[in-house]
Amino acid sequence: MATIGLIGGMSWESTAVYYRLLNEGVRARQGGLHSADVLLHSVDFSPIAEMQATGDWAAAGAAMAASARRLERGGATCIVLATNTMHKLADDITQATNLPFLHLADVTAKAIRKTESRRPLLLATRFTMEQRFYRDRLGAFGVEPLVPDEAERAEVHRIIYEELCRGRVEPTSKARYLEVVGRAVREEGADGVILGCTEITLLVSQADFDIPVFDTTALHVDAALDFTAGMAEQAAA
Ligand code: GLU
Repeated sequence: MATIGLIGGMSWESTAVYYRLLNEGVRARQGGLHSADVLLHSVDFSPIAEMQATGDWAAAGAAMAASARRLERGGATCIVLATNTMHKLADDITQATNLPFLHLADVTAKAIRKTESRRPLLLATRFTMEQRFYRDRLGAFGVEPLVPDEAERAEVHRIIYEELCRGRVEPTSKARYLEVVGRAVREEGADGVILGCTEITLLVSQADFDIPVFDTTALHVDAALDFTAGMAEQAAA
C-alpha cells in the first residue's frame, strides 16, 4: 500500500488545504468512497518560525529529520513536505530516511517547463525569495524566476506570517499582491507567477491573473497522487 507521509503545520492553514486537495484528488481519480491514504505529522509552527527568524536552521533541520523518521516508522512510503521554505532543509530529510522525497521545487519547475513561461515572478517568504536553495533548484530546470523588489518582498513576507499563517485573508493584502505582480509584468517582463508559499493559494489564484499561475500547493498534491498511484501500480504488477 502507498501511504503519503505529510509533514505539515507550517502553517496548518496550508496543511488543511493539502489534506482536502489530496482527498478531493483521490475522489476525482477513483470515485466512490475512495479517499487519500495519508499519515500526517503536523508540527507546532511557533518554535519553527522562531528558528527561521533567528537563523537556527540546524535546529529546524533536526526537527524536519525527526518528523520524517516518525512518518517512516509509522509506515509512510514517501515524504511530502507541505512548505516551500522548509525545502531549504531537504537534505536533512532525505538523509534521515530511505523514503522517496517529492521535492516541491522540482515539481514546480516541471510544471513551468510544460508552459512557455521562463521568467515567472516568485512570491514566497523572504527565505525562499532571497536565498539560493529554491531559485537554484528551479534554475537547474532552466527556469530563472524574478523576485519582487526589497519593499515588496518585505510586504509579501509580512502578509504570509502575520495574516495567512494565522487564518486571515484580507482584501487589501490581495490587492497588494496583485500590484506586486502587475509591476513585475509591466517593468520586468514577468510571464508567470509562482505561488511559492503554500498559504498564498488562500489569497490569490489563476482567476486573478491572465498569465500562468503555478500554485505550489495544488501542484505538490497532484505530484504526490501521481507518485503514489505509480507505486500502487508497481506493487500490483
Ligand atoms: N508555508 C510557507 C511556505 O510554503 C511558509 C511557512 C513556512 O515557513 O513553512 O514557504
